[in-house]
This record gives sequence, structure tokens and C-alpha cells, in this order.
Amino acid sequence: MDLNSDEFFFGINKSLYFKTEEQKNEMKKMDPEYITKTGTDFVLLPNSPEFINHNEPFEPMYIPKQTILEESLRREIERICFADTLLNKVVFDCADPSPFNKDTDPNVYGLEVLPFYIPQTKEDTTLVFESRFESGNLRRAIQICDYEYNLILKPDYYTTMNTQWFYFSLSNTRKDVEYRFNIINMMKPDSLYNSGMKPLMYSEQGAKHKKIGWFRDGHEICYYQNNMKRKNGGYYYTLTFAVKFQYDFDCIYIAHCYPYTYTHLCRYLKQLESDPAKKNRVKRKQLCQTIAGNTCDFLIIGDFNNGKEKKGIVITSRVHPGETMASYVMEYMIDFLTGNTHEARILRENFIFKIVPMLNIDGVVNGNYRCNLAGVDLNRQWIDPNKKQHPTIYHTKQLVKKTKEERDLVLFCDIHGHSRKKNIFMYGCSGKDPNRKELVFPMLNRNNCSVFSFKDCCFLLQKDREGSARIALWREFSIINCYTLEMSFCGADFGKYEYFHFNLDIYKEIAQSFCLSIIDCYEPEQIKVKQVMEEIEQNSLKNQQKDDKNNSGDEGSDYSNDDPKEQAMPQQIQVQTNDQQLGSQTKKLKKIPLLPPKKKKGL
Ligand SMILES: [Zn+2]
Repeated sequence: MDLNSDEFFFGINKSLYFKTEEQKNEMKKMDPEYITKTGTDFVLLPNSPEFINHNEPFEPMYIPKQTILEESLRREIERICFADTLLNKVVFDCADPSPFNKDTDPNVYGLEVLPFYIPQTKEDTTLVFESRFESGNLRRAIQICDYEYNLILKPDYYTTMNTQWFYFSLSNTRKDVEYRFNIINMMKPDSLYNSGMKPLMYSEQGAKHKKIGWFRDGHEICYYQNNMKRKNGGYYYTLTFAVKFQYDFDCIYIAHCYPYTYTHLCRYLKQLESDPAKKNRVKRKQLCQTIAGNTCDFLIIGDFNNGKEKKGIVITSRVHPGETMASYVMEYMIDFLTGNTHEARILRENFIFKIVPMLNIDGVVNGNYRCNLAGVDLNRQWIDPNKKQHPTIYHTKQLVKKTKEERDLVLFCDIHGHSRKKNIFMYGCSGKDPNRKELVFPMLNRNNCSVFSFKDCCFLLQKDREGSARIALWREFSIINCYTLEMSFCGADFGKYEYFHFNLDIYKEIAQSFCLSIIDCYEPEQIKVKQVMEEIEQNSLKNQQKDDKNNSGDEGSDYSNDDPKEQAMPQQIQVQTNDQQLGSQTKKLKKIPLLPPKKKKGL
């Protein structure tokens, strides 16, 4: 094959690294408000990757081998004991300058920006990593053996935490060789990667030749506590997996979940508002600007032509940037609500929907997992959001307030992903109402959605979550139906999709059944509501709610260092070692400059 073809060399997708004149002209025509800004020193490549639609069938979870933990720990110990023999070659860093091509003119390759590493011969099998695109997250790649790499993720900006979301590419692959990747600075004490979840991958060659979109791949997957101490106590965790690629010189993308960028959202919204059939059903409005200066929009959906009195519903998503599935579900909900079905018409005739599709745009752009550019979890700021530090939360709260003043605000829901539990479920708020009306809507969802698990729902008002949208808005605006919708990163543990990963088809089902449950909840006859109320009265379900305290999910903070469970994890490697023995990796990791918070006026 021609390694220096127009499109690719060594599998490196050239189009990421330069902008054509045509693209530059196109940019000039674009509304500058919607040109993505990072607000950080994270420099984006001239272009972002584009993917073909996902058309994969349901993909089974893997069954972990019984000995997988032992084997992974043995490999870890070997790496520690034989640290001196490892290559320890930094082959990618998203922020540091490359020592490999510092004197190379990018024009030699016809590019504007160079990859960190460029192989010089066909015999050089070093992988070429990249993450400097929107939502990308890979700080550093260290080659430790010919086909094994240690990977280090970027913490959320202005924090030292929250490493969980990964999204990067690698090129210059060799087919049928077993590669191994160890992401060594994960922070959550447990992961669905130990319960059958596989990472997502995308092959440029597979997409080109077989029209395959994102797919699950990898074997010998294991998530365990490693031997690197965190500064504030506790240890880091490693996600390790092996994978064989199908093509030589391919470019592979690897991600924690299907990527969904701000640019993707802007394109979708533009398409939505320019659809003549939907013009009278949806209005797009500006909510505010983010800290980085990105525009946050919201949608109003309803039948604006009939004067019938309408109830209000507010739906938000993507307050946590790494929970990308929330955006897919949101997009499918918008599609449904603005669509041509009889049910969609009923919904538009009876409700006004106010929708904020992306609450943490800056986090999404920068590849954060949880926080915004003020370095805080926005889903803890709903009690008293600061207009400058948490602008999207401040203005969404104003939107909720205004909706409440205008009409009967019957439902609020914030959409999330869950990294430790399976299934779809909701968190709600239980007050003093003996009828437990807050259980009704989740139960209707259970009836409509094949992967919704009522027994995973929780209606407690946990102290550490008082600043979440669910609890703060329930308290302040007395919205009985005030929820967090949670979706597993992995899949279901019951029903017809047990042992299968969730995919876009499932996200669509979740979105549609959510909308149908709104109809069931408010139709005048109340047939289905009466049925579930009877069920509640029979008391059979009251006791099914779990105390969620031991199950701190993604709505809750689960990075605590003083979590006794974390300290007692049996996976901790019991080998005498120290930082010297760990070799240069620990030291290098410590050397990663954590960017000090920039002094922003008014922050
Ligand atoms: Zn979340």
C-alpha cells in the first residue's frame, strides 16, 4: 500500500491535521457564535473526526475469566519488578512538544499540525496516538513493550480528579497482533469493565470497506486498584485490555462511550430548525454563554398555533460531559417530540417542552468527565448557582422559574449516565405525600421500556446531593415529578437484553418510552396511572426502594478518598514496592503540570 497516499499515511488520517481552502471559506460563513471554543490551553487540531452511523447489531457483554484479576495483577507485578527492562518511551503527549519532530516543517507532509510521532519506515510498528480533537481525552501514551502501552488520562480542567472518560485514536496498526493497553490513572473504585463491559472502537478501514460504525471490542479486560498512590490518599486504578486489529495501517478510535460533541449538537440543532416540517413545532433560543464563550441554546417544543392551555415540562442533559449517552437519548427525545406520530401531536397539543440539551458544553469540548471550567461539578450548584461560574445552571434555573410562573410545571428531568450499575432507572424525591405520587412516572416508564428497572430507582434525599437539580428544584419549586434519569454505560441485567450492551437502538427506545409515559401520566382517563397507584397502595413496591447510600452513583460523588470500601478493595496489589521500583512512570505522572486555575475576573 502507498504509505503516503493523499488521505492516509501509516494509517494516520491526514484530514485531521490540516484545513482545506474550502473548509476555511466555509468557516468564514459560519455563525462565529457556534465556533467551538475551548477556553483552556487545550489546542484542538484543525479538524475533528467524523464517523459513519452506527449500524451494529446488539453486542454481547464479555464473560470475565475467573482468573483475570490474578493474571492482570501478575502482569502488573512483572511490570514493577522488571521496570528497568521496559521501553518507557513517551510516544504521545497532548500538551508537551514532541521531541521527535521539533525541527520538522509540517508542510513536508502537507499538514498544518504534526502528529506527536511519525514512523519513518514501514518496519517501525510504534502506534501513533492522537487526542487533540473535541471531547478527546488522552494525556500521554508510554510504550512499555513492542505492543503494550501505558496510557494516562487528563484530569478535568482545574481539578486533579475525575479521570474516567477516554477518547483517542491510534494509527499504524498491524493486523492480528495482540496489543495491550493499560489506562493507569483511573479514579473510581469500581467499574462496569469488571461486569462484562467492553470499550468502544471504530476502525477507519472497517468503516470504509464494511460500513461498520462504532463497535465493542477487546478481551482480557480488567479494572483493578494499582500500586500508584494518589497525593491525597488512596490509589489509582488501572483499566487493562487486549485487542487485535483487523487491518494493517488502520486508524482506530477508542472511547469509553459513543462520543457526542458540541459541534455534533450544533449541527443537529441547525438541521432541526431548518426542517420545514418542524418549523412550527420547535423554537431554538439562546440561553447564555459558557465560561469559554460557547453559546448554550435551549429549545421550546409545542403546538404554538392552538391556544389550548398547556402544562410545562423541562428536560436537561449532559451536565456531566463524560455521560455521552445522555445526549443520544436527548436527541431521540427531540426527534420524537417534533415528529409526525399521533403521540407526538398529543404531546405538543398538551405540553410546552423546554429543553436544554447540553448543560456543560465547555466540559464536553475539553474532554472532561464531570466538571466545568470553574472546576466544579455543576450538578451540585442548583441551590444557588453563580451567574459567572455556573452560567448554564443559573439560566436554566431562571428558565424553570419562568416556566413555573407561566404554567403548571409538571415534570423536570435531568438525563445522566451511570458507570457502576446496569439498567435504566430514576432518582426521584419522596416528600410527605402518603400516596407516593413520585413513584408513578418511573413505574409508567417501567411498563413502557424493556430495560427500565424500578427496583434500581431511589427516592431518598441524600445530604450530599442536595445541590443536584433533582433535589434543589423539587424543594424550591415543589415539582413532584422531579427526576434524574440514569442509564448504564454497560447494559441490562434482566429481560430480553440481559448480557447485551446498550446501543443506539436502546437509547432510542428509552427516549420514546419516556415520551409515551408522559402521555400515560396525564391522559384524562388516568387508566394506567390508576393501575400503578393500586400497585403502590398494595405496598408491594414501597419496600423495594434500595437505600442508595452504598451505591453512590454518578449523580453522587464517588471519588471520595476516605471511602472505607475503597481502602479495603481486595484488588490492591500486595507486593512490596516503592515509587523507584515503579520506574519512571510514577515520576513522570507527577510531573504532568496541573494547570493552575487562571485568575478570571469575577470568578
Ligand atoms: Zn451524571
